[in-house]
Amino acid sequence: MKPNIAIIGLGLIGGSLGLALKRNPSLQVTGYDRSFSTLEQAFRRGIIDTIATSIENACEHADVIIFATPVNTTVAMMHQAVNWKLRTDVIMTDTGSTKGPIMDAAKQLLERGITFIGGHPMAGSHKSGVTAAKEHLFENAYYILTPDSQTDSAKVEQLRVLLGPTKGKIVVLDSEEHDRMTAIVSHFPHLVASSLVGRLSAQQEEQPFVKKLAAGGFRDLTRIASADPIMWRDITTQNREELLKQLDGWLEEMENVRNMLKSNDPDEIYNYFAGAKQFRDDLP
Ligand code: NAD
Repeated sequence: MKPNIAIIGLGLIGGSLGLALKRNPSLQVTGYDRSFSTLEQAFRRGIIDTIATSIENACEHADVIIFATPVNTTVAMMHQAVNWKLRTDVIMTDTGSTKGPIMDAAKQLLERGITFIGGHPMAGSHKSGVTAAKEHLFENAYYILTPDSQTDSAKVEQLRVLLGPTKGKIVVLDSEEHDRMTAIVSHFPHLVASSLVGRLSAQQEEQPFVKKLAAGGFRDLTRIASADPIMWRDITTQNREELLKQLDGWLEEMENVRNMLKSNDPDEIYNYFAGAKQFRDDLP
């Protein structure tokens, strides 16, 4: 029998995973989403082979279950999963942008002998929903796995092989390390982007024309502020501690910028921009 993969949540990430996994013709993909029109679209686009009528139904015979819902929803589902009928050898994973609270919620599953391996494909978009799903989304992007320290490495290897068709670069990290690093490169920049948009919005009454000037640079810098607010509310509440640390560092940085502006030393200002340019240009 073909291995059965259940994907819960068929938006941008779940839909893209379905498309990528179906490059392996020996997999049978079952989908569940709270939106029936999403399920219908996913079926029509060949993202899934079967529509499940309930989450329990999707998971009961699955060899692998992938949660691709907003992170607070995933945590709630994992609490419910303790009462579901599941295969004893099932591997559960998720795609959430935060890993600490998800690995905490996984404890009760792990205690019951169910394998849960946290997952985060680090590719995405400010667009959401099944219509934005793309087969190539994860290619060459890091795909992070955060197994519990007790998890059998053979199971991690099994999941790594299953995810092969995504063509992502799979790396294993500790969940705390994951949340610390994603706060720096993803979650805090999101807050900054939204705050820049907030500053524009607050000043547009006095400067009605300013909105029209918000082109090139402003748009590039704030593109991510157009992402789904539910997803970002959940990420922010789950990674709050790391975000507060980043905010403290940012306030310190802005204080230095303020002092630099006050002293108005052209060399100091040049060095500030030159240092940032060099680091940015050298990013891999
Ligand atoms: P999305 O909004 O495109 O899709 C989420 C899907 O989950 C929707 O189809 C929605 O109907 C479904 N859903 C929500 N609540 C549900 C419920 N209770 N039961 C069943 N289905 C439900 O979001 P997305 O961008 O695909 O994000 C999914 C996950 O992947 C999130 O945890 C997010 O943190 C993570 N992630 C997102 C990105 C990104 O750039 N968008 C990147 C990497 C990881």
